[in-house]
Amino acid sequence: MCGDGGRDPGEATDDTQMAVLTAESLLERGETDLPDVFRRFRRWAADGPKDIGLQTEAVLTSGAPWDTAAALHFRTNRRAAGNGALMRAAPSAVRFARHGRAPTMGAARRLSALTHGDPAAREGTAVLHELIRVALSGEDPLTAVPDTLAALHPGHRARYATVLAPGWHPDRATEFNGAVWPCLGSAVRALRTTTSYEEAVRAAIGLGGATDTVAAVAGAPAGSVYGIGAIPERWTQPLHVPLPGFGDRVLRAREPAGLAERSAWTAAGCGQGVTTP
Ligand SMILES: [Mg+2]
Repeated sequence: MCGDGGRDPGEATDDTQMAVLTAESLLERGETDLPDVFRRFRRWAADGPKDIGLQTEAVLTSGAPWDTAAALHFRTNRRAAGNGALMRAAPSAVRFARHGRAPTMGAARRLSALTHGDPAAREGTAVLHELIRVALSGEDPLTAVPDTLAALHPGHRARYATVLAPGWHPDRATEFNGAVWPCLGSAVRALRTTTSYEEAVRAAIGLGGATDTVAAVAGAPAGSVYGIGAIPERWTQPLHVPLPGFGDRVLRAREPAGLAERSAWTAAGCGQGVTTP
């Protein structure tokens, strides 16, 4: 982020903020404590972050309890397949990767459902988790797309198969990339058409629209494929993550990467409080 619209260079947006809140909950609770994640999200949303998805904001500020807020929003609005659960997928994907496909996709669905009542958002987030899991296992996530589609709820396979097909182009999107399908399709295409972390993230940003989110969604599997050493230092050096709702906390420099390392360490069974998902 070069800095504009009231942001400093390197200042993280809502995508990273929500990912950090998820990572910290998973690490501190040692399990998927959904009410705890929801409480952290709500505390953040109530303090007026510089950006927040419309749907995420509506759910988190509704006053409804953690286990019904998103469902109530979906029942009322019917359109709730935003990309807001995709963008925060990396920490839980790292955390559950070693447990295999079903636990990883299950965790994705449960965490996604905190803010996104539309099953399409849950299934898309499950796809992204699985692609990250495959990449972390050292395999090519793009070759895992067919098996991943087969693990989706049958009613959602066709639409994801369309946007994840090798020939799909964002110009063919039927919605703005703030929606889950073109966002995921664009991110996977960015990975498919490039050969480095930097190129993948640049390709995602170059598509326009919800650039921070498409880049976050592309960056998570790209980082899993190319490794932390592939992330340019001129990008990580100015990075800082303010956390509204949590005092004056700002994560700087390598702290976000440290969270990822601790998540992977915990997932490997080397940390405290590891539980079966
Ligand atoms: Mg954003």
